[in-house]
Amino acid sequence: MPIDPSDPFADPAGPDADPPATVHPLEPPAAQVRAMVTDVLDRLLPWLERQATGPMSTVSGSQRVARALRGPPPEEPGDWRGILGTLERALGASLDTTSPGYLAYVPGGGLPQVAVADLYADLVNRFTGLWMPAPGFVTLEIEVIRWFAGILGLPDAAGGLLTSGGSLANLGAVVAARHHHLGEDLADGVVYRSDATHHSVDKTVALAGIPRRNVRSIPVDAAHRLRVDALDAAIRADRAAGRRPFLVVANAGTTAVGAVDPIDAIADRCAEHRVWLHVDAAYGGFFALTARGTAVLRGIGRADSVTLDPHKGLFLPYGTGCLIVRDREALRAAHAVEATYLPPPADDPLAWDLADLGPELSRPNRGLRVWLPVALHGLGAFRRTLDEKLDLAQVAAEAIRAIPGVRLVSEPTLSLFSFRLEPDGPGGDPGPTDVVNRRWLSATNRRRRVFLSGAVVVDPAVGRPLFVLRVCVLSYRTHADRIAMLIEDLRETVAEALGDAG
Ligand SMILES: *Cc1c(COP(=O)(O)O)cnc(C)c1O
Repeated sequence: MPIDPSDPFADPAGPDADPPATVHPLEPPAAQVRAMVTDVLDRLLPWLERQATGPMSTVSGSQRVARALRGPPPEEPGDWRGILGTLERALGASLDTTSPGYLAYVPGGGLPQVAVADLYADLVNRFTGLWMPAPGFVTLEIEVIRWFAGILGLPDAAGGLLTSGGSLANLGAVVAARHHHLGEDLADGVVYRSDATHHSVDKTVALAGIPRRNVRSIPVDAAHRLRVDALDAAIRADRAAGRRPFLVVANAGTTAVGAVDPIDAIADRCAEHRVWLHVDAAYGGFFALTARGTAVLRGIGRADSVTLDPHKGLFLPYGTGCLIVRDREALRAAHAVEATYLPPPADDPLAWDLADLGPELSRPNRGLRVWLPVALHGLGAFRRTLDEKLDLAQVAAEAIRAIPGVRLVSEPTLSLFSFRLEPDGPGGDPGPTDVVNRRWLSATNRRRRVFLSGAVVVDPAVGRPLFVLRVCVLSYRTHADRIAMLIEDLRETVAEALGDAG
């Protein structure tokens, strides 16, 4: 049979060739690779199924587990079963991030389909840092970016790339804004963000070389949203003092309480003052797929750059964030450096060298892990799932609000809200009330049907830092039955939280 040179799966030696006689130890026979994959699936698929109904695992015996896993690298081959056992020991001592009851921090769930995309990507190991070596795979990533830009309402000239997460997306945005507005003179460049902004923003601003003294903390209003009047005043004051305001970071869903800043009004100010607007939408951005989310995020399409986190809002396993910049050229100008040993750029506006848009050259084939689930299920499936999260958060918030003594510290603008038990009313001493709330959190989590986390936030209504419980519904696996358990467990543990107070 003739070999088709365009078919990458054709065997160049022909279908009847003998298999190679010797096998290199690092090149296991196909049957062995298949057996390893099968072993993993045989163990993990039933485990995943139990995740939907079983009690949630907790992190216990951390030190004991860690001690058991330490040791020098082996010189000789290890036993495969033993290796799987080691992985299971590590798995046994971990937070149950794939459980439908995981409502802590910002969940995502981790679609198992994406593990299949990763398997494919890693088996073929194509190079996606540049366009030339794998134009097909790079196109899939570029298409994903263009889809997202369209969803947010950004123009055709937008560009970007998939990153390891929201933190690195924020870094890319800060670097692009800095390069665009400050060039190489950073000393007087000033950044503005609300007190509620994710800590990764301050981290990336520091990494980008902006002096700490040039980061302005803008107060929030009663709904924990950046105060536009205060922002405006701060920018004016810095300009008057001869400094160079260059970047405003707005939140599309703060991590602690879920607040969405008034993006449209902030965009007006940024346009007026000619300052870069970055929207950190790592938690909330994909709600733009829903009608309610679009209304809440109004103005996001006016941003100069946006951070999204597919490993949150698209339910991917950890490892994929996304940066989108309104003017692709601004992002490229901030990152591109020439190297004579690399292929020249292709003459096509849609052939992006991704290495020119971010800090990495070699990188995982991230496009596949976003593109595959969308290709498989269609955006509609994600849209409906995100809509379900908005509904669930509303139901949960109303039921929790109805528990006597509870005050909602923030409303479920999207799918995240915060609350607090205040037996003496909001005016009570926050210290002892914090203790009651910490106890309430532990008592609820101890039932192992849901897992919540808390946060200390300065409540503008009270003007003091308070400990709040929070619910973030974002796992694709969380449905109404689990929210019913959440409500039941919170109700039934109130007495425990209060009773031990003495
Ligand atoms: C999660 C999050 C980040 C950080 O993203 P990583 O993917 O964890 O790096 C930044 N900002 C917000 C608002 C987030 O929710």
